[in-house]
Amino acid sequence: METNYETIVIGGGVVGSGIAYHLSEQYKEGVLVLDKKYPMSGTSGSTQAWVWVHNKTPSWYAEFNMYSAELYPYLSKKIGDVEYKRTGGLSPFFNESDREKAQKLAESYRKIGIKIKVLSREEVLEKEPYMNPEVAGATYSSIDGNVNPFRLIDMYMRAAKRNGVRYSAYNKVTEIKKQDGKYLVFSDKGAFECKNLILAGGTWSREIGDMLGVKIPVNQLRGQILVSEPLKPFLNFTISGLRQANNGEVLMGYSMEEAGFNRATTLDVIQETANMAVRYVPGLRKAKIVRAFSGIRAMPEDGFPILGEVPGFENLYVAATHSGVTLSPLIGTLITELIIDGETSIPIDRYSLSRFG
Ligand SMILES: Cc1cc2nc3c(=O)[nH]c(=O)nc-3n(C[C@H](O)[C@H](O)[C@H](O)COP(=O)(O)OP(=O)(O)OC[C@H]3O[C@@H](n4cnc5c(N)ncnc54)[C@H](O)[C@@H]3O)c2cc1C
Repeated sequence: METNYETIVIGGGVVGSGIAYHLSEQYKEGVLVLDKKYPMSGTSGSTQAWVWVHNKTPSWYAEFNMYSAELYPYLSKKIGDVEYKRTGGLSPFFNESDREKAQKLAESYRKIGIKIKVLSREEVLEKEPYMNPEVAGATYSSIDGNVNPFRLIDMYMRAAKRNGVRYSAYNKVTEIKKQDGKYLVFSDKGAFECKNLILAGGTWSREIGDMLGVKIPVNQLRGQILVSEPLKPFLNFTISGLRQANNGEVLMGYSMEEAGFNRATTLDVIQETANMAVRYVPGLRKAKIVRAFSGIRAMPEDGFPILGEVPGFENLYVAATHSGVTLSPLIGTLITELIIDGETSIPIDRYSLSRFG
């Protein structure tokens, strides 16, 4: 394998592969993606994969997510069917007292062009007949949906490779040096040299940053998901808590726990998740659960993406975020703009690593 590349991406998950693909659309210089395992082995292979906008706060962050969700139909046209469905999103509430909060959210979003409706109990049940009839209402937005994360990464990789991007799997980066304006990247399978280096190591961003003395404050937050047997299609929307995939399986869960890199599943969270799912959709009580899995979120210290050039390091870029499935088309577009044009079409200053001081 060649050792000299214009750009190296460390991490081939949905974020790194999204960047590699978007870059390769316009950029014919050499791009190499290195992954210590394989591109779905990290968080991107253990996710709910909602393309989710509504009820993210503050509203400027929801707006950022909206831009990315808007790119999905175009992305599917370019790279192929990623099983993206703009189902619309429902966030149910069970107490009438939560209606006022929902209305405030809807009002704050209206100002930035995200349309949220606050639905009555009857309207929720009309849209989603299998929802618990005890529901008091829900916020509803048409922009939300979901995607098949495995197809998404696979299609990103296929399209990137067609455009000349090289992938090297099972190849851990162990050391990085900056020398004569270039980055030297040492890995299990040898040393590589590049002008642009992109750190897209997800939940391992902190340890990759350390190799250059750059503090990337990304923590781990475990999430556990239950998966049902395939059921006949019966859920119409992506519900904040569960969704039905194309093959009929229902994916349930949004738990968050501090457990470091431990990807075990635990009975207490499985039980809580099952209770949540049955409270939302009582019919799920009869469904067989066929598996549970857990994933480790890459959670920046303040919860927002860390994006852009690393202050003080020319041609070094970082992209680490939660909601990476929702945000990958936008992140891929913005990092490509930064590398090719030196500026982005929408401001990303507030996501700079510099905010951590
Ligand atoms: C339970 C759960 C539910 C979620 N639900 C959603 C959701 O509904 N919607 C949404 O948008 N997001 C969701 N997320 C978050 C989303 O899945 C992540 O933000 C996204 O997958 C992160 O992608 P990534 O490419 O940054 O990380 P990863 O997929 O982890 O990729 C990083 C890659 O870097 C590689 N790597 C690390 N260190 C090295 C090294 N030293 N050398 C070489 N390679 C290295 C790893 O092997 C890995 O493949 C969820 C996450 C979890 C855990």
